[in-house]
Amino acid sequence: MLKLDIQLFAVPARKISKTSKRMRRTHYKIEANGTVKCPKCGAKIRPHRVCPECGNYKGKEVIKTKEAE
Ligand SMILES: [Zn+2]
Repeated sequence: MLKLDIQLFAVPARKISKTSKRMRRTHYKIEANGTVKCPKCGAKIRPHRVCPECGNYKGKEVIKTKEAE
């Protein structure tokens, strides 16, 4: 392995431009965790729960929704 003798230092806030800081922070995003696709309508739903879009669970219509009527 190539070992590089690089030390990383903390950079003072005033040395980082607003643009540079904002560009870096574009990668900081919140992701919705634990979503699966509904097998019937394809909507993003939480696992092991009735789909709020089509009202289906395990291939059966469990609750009535506006779409099903
Ligand atoms: Zn659905």
